[in-house]
Amino acid sequence: MAEAHLSNTEVPDRGGSFLFQPVGARPFMTPEKFTSDQRQFFRTGGEFTRVEVVEKRDRFVDHDYGLLRDLIGKAGELGLLGVDVPEEYGGLGLDKVTSMLVAESQAGDGSWATTFGAHTGIGTLPIVFFGTPAQKAKYLPDLAAGRKVAAYALSEAGSGSDALGAKTTARLAPDGKHYVVNGGKMWITNGGFADVYVVFLKVDGGGFTAFIVERGTPGFSTGREEHKLGLRGSSTTPLIFEDALVPVENVLGEIGKGHKIAFNILNVGRLKLAAFSSGGMKWSLRTGTAYAAQRKQFGKAIAEFGLVREKLARAAANTYAVESMTYRAAGAIDDAIGDRSDAAHVMASIEEYAVEASIMKITGSEWMFSLIDEMLQIHGGNGFVTDYPVERAYRDNRVNRIFEGTNEINRLLIPGMIFKRAMRGQMPLMEAVSRLDEELADPKFFPAPMGRLAAERRGAEMAKREFIFAARWAATLGPALEQRQEVLAALADCAIEVYAMDSILGRTLATDDRPELRDALCRFFCAESRERAIDRARTALCAVLPAGEVEAQLEQLSRLHRYTPVNIMEAREGIVPSVLDTGGYPIAW
Ligand SMILES: Cc1cc2nc3c(=O)[nH]c(=O)nc-3n(C[C@H](O)[C@H](O)[C@H](O)COP(=O)(O)OP(=O)(O)OC[C@H]3O[C@@H](n4cnc5c(N)ncnc54)[C@H](O)[C@@H]3O)c2cc1C
Repeated sequence: MAEAHLSNTEVPDRGGSFLFQPVGARPFMTPEKFTSDQRQFFRTGGEFTRVEVVEKRDRFVDHDYGLLRDLIGKAGELGLLGVDVPEEYGGLGLDKVTSMLVAESQAGDGSWATTFGAHTGIGTLPIVFFGTPAQKAKYLPDLAAGRKVAAYALSEAGSGSDALGAKTTARLAPDGKHYVVNGGKMWITNGGFADVYVVFLKVDGGGFTAFIVERGTPGFSTGREEHKLGLRGSSTTPLIFEDALVPVENVLGEIGKGHKIAFNILNVGRLKLAAFSSGGMKWSLRTGTAYAAQRKQFGKAIAEFGLVREKLARAAANTYAVESMTYRAAGAIDDAIGDRSDAAHVMASIEEYAVEASIMKITGSEWMFSLIDEMLQIHGGNGFVTDYPVERAYRDNRVNRIFEGTNEINRLLIPGMIFKRAMRGQMPLMEAVSRLDEELADPKFFPAPMGRLAAERRGAEMAKREFIFAARWAATLGPALEQRQEVLAALADCAIEVYAMDSILGRTLATDDRPELRDALCRFFCAESRERAIDRARTALCAVLPAGEVEAQLEQLSRLHRYTPVNIMEAREGIVPSVLDTGGYPIAW
C-alpha cells in the first residue's frame, strides 16, 4: 500500500510539518548534500580547534582572557566569526548550514565552544537582525573580525526562565541623550572580557527593551568570575549598572519590543547548541572507542564485551540522529530564507522552525550528556579522574540543559507552539485527528511501508499517530492544558522522537552510501525511540483521560504499536565493527 497521509491535503514544508507528512515524503538537507565550500568551512574550523584550542585547553581553567581574545582574533582571521554577518559589514553572509557546520567544528572543548557560541550567536546576531545601519556599521566589522567580543545579557538573579520579569531599568536622563541604567545581570558568558553587550532591560520600569552597552560605559562594570562545575575556561560574570549612562542611539530595535529580540535570537542559539552537540558527541565517542579498544579485562579488550558494545552502538546511533536533525532544520531555514537577505524575513524564517529549534536544544543537550555519561562509564575509575578528558567533558556539558532556555521551558514551548499553529490553521492537526479516526475504524488504511527499513518506517508513522492521538485528548482540557505541564512535556517528548525517527529514516532512504551500516543505525535508534514515543504518549493520555475512558483509549493507542521487536544484538553488531574500524563515529561525509 502507498504511504498514507495523515492529512488529505499536501502538507506544505514548514515548521512542525514532520508530524503530518509521511516519512521520506520530501527531500531535506543532509550532510551528504553539503557543498564543497561548506565542507571546507568545516575542515578549516576543525583544524583550528585541533591546533589552536585543544592543544591549549589546559590553560582554559584559569579564565585566561588573553588566550580567549587571542583565539577569537585568530578565528576571525580565518573567517569563522563572520558566517552570519552580511558582507557589507565585513562578514561572509553565508547560509545557516554553514553556520551550523562552523559551530560543530568548534566543539573540541566546551569552554571554547561556549565562548565562541556566545560571541558569534546570541552576542552578535541581535545586531545583525535588529541593528540600525549605523549600529551595524559601528559594531559588526569588529565583531566579525574578532577585534571585539560580544555577549548577550538577559538573565538576572531574580529572573532566569521568567526573563520578562527583569528588574534592570533604564530611564531617560534630563539631557535627553542618555538612558540612566540601574540593576544587574547574572551568569553572562564572556562577561569578564567582552567589549559589546546586548542587554535587556525595562525602560521606565515597563517596556522591555534591548540596548547595546559598551565596555567602558560610565557606571557599568562586571563582577567577579563565577566558580563553576564546568566550563571553567569560559568567562561567566554578573554585570553591574549603577547610574550607567547609555547613549539613546544604543537602543536596539524598538522600545518595548525587546522580547522579540531576546526570544528569536534564542532560537538560533538553540540550533547552534545542537550543532555543538553533534560535534561534542563525535569527540566523546572517539575517546570512548579508543579507551574500549585498548583497555583489557578478563584477558580481552573491553570493546569485545556485549554491554560495552551496546554503549558504542547507542552512541553512534544517537549521534547519527542529532546530526540528521540539526542539518535538516538548518537546511529548512535556508530554504525558507531563499534569496532574500532582509533581516525581518530571515528572522521570520528562523521563527518558523522554532519547534525544531526547541527539539534540537533538548536532544542536543540530553543525548550528548547521556553519551558522555556512557563514555565515562566505559573508562571505569579512570573516567572519574581528571587525567582523562571525559571527566571534563562530563562537567562541561551539564550546563547545556540549563542555558538557552532550560529543557523544561523548551519542553513546554514545543506543544504550546504546535497547538497555537493548529488553532491558526497553520498545522493540520484536526484534519490528522479525523484521518486517524478513519484509520482506526478500518486498519487497512494504516500505512504499511514495504522494502528498505519497512518496520522502522512503520514505527515512525505510528509514532506520529501516537502523538496525534494523545494531542487530541490533551486538547480536550482546553485552556487548562497550559497548566498541565506533565501532559505538555509528555507530548513534547513524543514529538521529539517523531522528529528524530523521521529525520534519520528520511536521510538514510535518500542515500546509497554504506546502506548496511546506516540501516543498522536506524534499526538500533528506532527500536529505542519508538518505545520512548509510546511510553510518553501513554503518559499524556493517562493524565488527561476521564476515568471511564482510560481502558478503551489505551486499547486504541496500543493498536498503533503492534510490531515485532528487533534483535538488539544484531542491530548492535551492524554498527560496532564500523565504530571500532574508524575509531569513532562511522559515518563520513
Ligand atoms: C555557565 C552559564 C552561562 C550562562 N550564560 C548566559 C548568558 O550568556 N546570557 C544570559 O542571559 N544568561 C546566561 N545564563 C543564565 C541561564 O540562561 C539561566 O541560568 C537559565 O535561563 C535558567 O534560569 P535560572 O538559573 O534563573 O533558573 P530558574 O528560572 O530559577 O529555574 C530553576 C528551575 O525551575 C525550572 N522552572 C522555571 N520556571 C519553570 C516553569 N514555568 N515551569 C517548569 N519549570 C520551571 C527550570 O526549568 C529549572 O529547572 C548562563 C548560565 C550559566 C550557568
